[in-house]
Amino acid sequence: MFKNYLATKTDLEAIEEGLKTVWKPELNFVFRKKGLIASTVIVSYDSKYIYLWIPLREKPGQYRFRKILHNTTIPPEHHRGWSAGVWEKMEQLLPASIRKASKFAIPRIGGGLLKPFVTLQKDMGLEINPYTTKESYLATIVHEFGHIYWQQHKLWWYSDKKENLRYLRLARLLYAHPNVNVPQIPFYLPNIHAVGEIYAFCAEYTAGTLFWPTHCKNCDKFIQWRLKNLLDVEAKTNLDRVDSVLEPTKYPHDFSFVFGKIVLTRYPQLWPVILTRRPSLID
Ligand SMILES: [Zn+2]
Repeated sequence: MFKNYLATKTDLEAIEEGLKTVWKPELNFVFRKKGLIASTVIVSYDSKYIYLWIPLREKPGQYRFRKILHNTTIPPEHHRGWSAGVWEKMEQLLPASIRKASKFAIPRIGGGLLKPFVTLQKDMGLEINPYTTKESYLATIVHEFGHIYWQQHKLWWYSDKKENLRYLRLARLLYAHPNVNVPQIPFYLPNIHAVGEIYAFCAEYTAGTLFWPTHCKNCDKFIQWRLKNLLDVEAKTNLDRVDSVLEPTKYPHDFSFVFGKIVLTRYPQLWPVILTRRPSLID
């Protein structure tokens, strides 16, 4: 359907509006450490061009717009959604300066343009789908920045070499000298990656509450409908044999709206700190 589609001014301006929202002072508490999102490149595309918003290093929150020709076919699923990171084929089409940089040095966010996004979402024919409006499109951009912000904390694996060496040396010491007097032993278990989905949900929902109440209402309606089904299924599930409906690796979005709502309600201001905190660090 969007095989020959070319971006309109409205499409491109929508992305710019989404970006502006991310940098609004109202969201400072969500994206507190601005440096973690400042180098993020935004990637969108139509049938002919790849559109890039490349951050200006000396002016955080401002971007240089660039478009490059391509002659690849973009599958509909990449027009109808956004994600933190772009798929492999698109990655190969990015300028070398971006492609060669790690996903932490230059995080990527990418997705379809407003018109294809909204149209293809509508075409999915879901009974209730909150992602069929311009507001939902803008909220999706904020959502992806939520992913980047969380990912930059690198909490889901042993990502700190200095600390890892400390753990290894400490273990070696404990084996060699069982009676050694060890001071406070730091103890850290990585978090699960799906916590990033909670962060992204909370970022989107917070922005929704502030700027796009209709989107929030649409989400609430969808989530309430979904929760009714999840409750029915979970009530009948034997959890010794089958995964819970909350299983984050299988149903990350269900997982995120359940725990996202709980953490947002319980800690309306502190949730960004709580979700980016190391889970088991005792010092
Ligand atoms: Zn997400």
